[in-house]
Formats: sequence, C-alpha cells, structure tokens
Amino acid sequence: MIVTSSTHKRFLLAAVLFFAVLSLYAQTAPKPGIPLTDLAKELSARVFWDPLSGMAVMEKNGHLVNLRAGDGLVLLDYREAVALDPPVILDGALIVSTAFKDHIENFFSSAPAPVSYRVGAILIDPGHGGKDPGAVGKAKVKGKTVQIREKDVVLTVAKDLHEQLSRKWPDKNIRLTRSDDRYISLEDRVEIANSIKLRDHEAILYVSIHANAAFNKKSAGFEVWYLSPDYRRTVIDKSGGESAEILPILNSMMEEEFTTESILIAKSISDSLEQRIGKQSPNRGLKEEAWFVVRNARMPSVLVELGFVTNPGEAALLSDPEYLKRCAAGIYTGLANFIEHFEQSRGFTATP
Ligand SMILES: [Zn+2]
Repeated sequence: MIVTSSTHKRFLLAAVLFFAVLSLYAQTAPKPGIPLTDLAKELSARVFWDPLSGMAVMEKNGHLVNLRAGDGLVLLDYREAVALDPPVILDGALIVSTAFKDHIENFFSSAPAPVSYRVGAILIDPGHGGKDPGAVGKAKVKGKTVQIREKDVVLTVAKDLHEQLSRKWPDKNIRLTRSDDRYISLEDRVEIANSIKLRDHEAILYVSIHANAAFNKKSAGFEVWYLSPDYRRTVIDKSGGESAEILPILNSMMEEEFTTESILIAKSISDSLEQRIGKQSPNRGLKEEAWFVVRNARMPSVLVELGFVTNPGEAALLSDPEYLKRCAAGIYTGLANFIEHFEQSRGFTATP
C-alpha cells in the first residue's frame, strides 16, 4: 500500500485543466492532420501515448520523438526542440499535422546512429519489512484462516524476481533493498538506490513491489505505478545556444525523460502481468504518483501493487506460492522485454 494523499486534489486539477483545454480546442478549428498511431505505422516506428498526461513518445532505431497534446514544441532525442503545430486530441486520438509528419520522417531517416545504451543495474525494492508489516489481511487456506502480510508476499516475489534477473544477466548489478524480514526506512532505501555505481552510458532501473489494501473488501486487481512528472530536475546547460524564451519549455520537457522511461517500463510490466495473472486479478491499469523513494532516487522507476490482501479471494491467491511465482514471472518478463528492446535500439539516458 502506498499513501496517495494528494491524488484526489491532483485529479480535480487535472479534470479542470482537461475541460479548459477541451473548450480551447472547440474554439479553434483543427488543421487537417493524421493520427499519431497511423503515422507510426506508416514509418514503422513504435509509439506510446499516455492520455492522462497527454504525452506521447515515438521511437525508431533508438531515436526518440517526445510530444504532447497542445504543445507546439517537439523534442528530438532529448537534444533538439523544433516548433511544429501543436498536436490535438480528436475523438480520443492524438492528431499531428502534415508538417509534423514531414519533419519527423526526415528526422528518423537522417539522424546519426544513436549512442549505445545499457541497463547496468536493477534495484528491486520489496516494501515494508521487520516492524512494518505493510497491509495485513486474512485468507482461508485449506479450511484454516491464515494471516497474509504484505511484507512477506512482496519479499517472496522480490527474491524470485532477483533470482530470475540475475540468471538472465549475470553481468548486471541486480540488487535487493532487503533479502530478509527487516525494517528499512524510506531514507535508507533512497540511499541504497543512489549509492549504486554506474559506468558511462549505463542506466539503473528501480522496481518497488507492494500489495494493496482497501476498506472495501471487494477491491481487487493489480496496478503498476510510474513516476509522476512532478519530480523536476534541471538538465539543460544554460550556456547552450537556445533562446531564453525556449529554454524553460525545453527544460521542462527534458525533465520528463525519466517519466517517459518509467511509463514504458510500467506499460511493459502491466501487459505481461496481465498475461500471467489477469484472469484471476483484474488489471487496474497504469497510475502515476510521485512517491518518496522514487522522488529522491534519480532513475526511471515503477511500483507494482500485486493485489489486495484485504480481498479474501486475492488474499488466498497471494498466499499461494505458485501464484506468487507467476507474479514474479510477470514482472520479470515485462522488465526483460523493456531492457532487451532498449539495449538493442539504445535508450533515453545515454549521453554522447
Ligand atoms: Zn505497501
């Protein structure tokens, strides 16, 4: 369980912004354009669009195009920003202009080979432990009522995941924040995350594992959270040649580099978990939040909530070692798919 006190307020704010933007679009007739997903198909590029943030990423041969609904600046490989017609949302699709299409087509075909990129480390963080049991529920197992504690469930899954990742990549630094039942403060988890050493052109991924709880015993399903764009950092060297007008906008787009990666990892894990456990535990979808460890650890990060220990049916599942193996396998496959793709095509965090 994670604490999300500001989620409600943020949701309201997002709703207000959404309708404000919507009414703005209603007043200006959109120019003819093409849905981004169609363009991606035409260019044989991968595309991911997050309707929640309005942010989209296109990727081809390791080159990245970041864009956002309503935003006239398009970011190329996190290096260059071009001013193009702002993409608009029409009937649930993100529409880009023909000028956008021409520019991106040209960018994909003429950009130099990207710098190679490698995931050097993965930090697996089973939540809670020791004096902190996390969420607690009850399950009927073979006629007996047993207590299900989040700290035990997530440790089992985390250790299994650690074993699978270590077997697959003996040359990567695969770490657990805890491998037994002990208490670790959030500050200490941050310190572990930030102390892991990386070589040039290496990235680290952070995967936190939790189980959920709710007052409503019927609440069920797993969810995958990604780092919210709230976490800001200054990336751009002010001595660059960009005009003072563009700098703040460019900066705010580049700050979202980790968010983009986090969304893609979260989506990959969510998809593969759905394949493994989706028939028994519904997929509650991707969520965004800025939680403590992730806000303070500078790396792309996701948090998996495996299900509700407060739901008797899910508690029974979470007490079953075979089910937990499938949970670990789901997270593993999602991570592996992401890593393999981005190591082949480079990734976002490489710097020349
Ligand atoms: Zn938790």
